Amino acid sequence: MQEKDIPKEFFSFETEAPFERCIECNKYLLDEGTEYLIEKAIKNYQGFEARDVVFDFAICMDCMHERSKDISPESAAKITEYFQNNIDLENRLALNEENAESGLDKCMIKGTEVSACSEYQICGYFNGRKMNLQNPPYLISGEVMEELMPLLSDQTIDEMNGFFKKHFSPDPSFFEPTPKLILV
Ligand SMILES: [Zn+2]
Repeated sequence: MQEKDIPKEFFSFETEAPFERCIECNKYLLDEGTEYLIEKAIKNYQGFEARDVVFDFAICMDCMHERSKDISPESAAKITEYFQNNIDLENRLALNEENAESGLDKCMIKGTEVSACSEYQICGYFNGRKMNLQNPPYLISGEVMEELMPLLSDQTIDEMNGFFKKHFSPDPSFFEPTPKLILV
């Protein structure tokens, strides 16, 4: 099995180094055999080099499993259906262990190049200090997030807002106009 170090794109914005702890339970993540996920939301400024990290976090598989219970069954079914109907499957299946990172080049659904996305989220799976190449990282454009939001129940949106309020400093602009979707 091929192994790859954690790409810089998935480093913590705060420390500029790999995430060390699960955002929920504080478990240490960098031991081999510890599986976790990193999610990061980024704002691009068209025509500028500047990028803002809106939020980023790492979460262990146990906590991720707990969190997935927060999504109502109706919302989960609608999200699954949306992905099944819209994913560029050919493109996704073309990713393998050698080119896994190219999953970060464009939106998994729309095919929009990362440089053309004003907002996007990236998500990747990791094991200790290595990236999981069997489950390549992916990028979702802001356009997709906007299409997903109306599919979510109020209960699911409340749970997501609760997660943000718990973990991120309350910047009033942060939650406007819609809560940020977390994909885990
Ligand atoms: Zn955890």
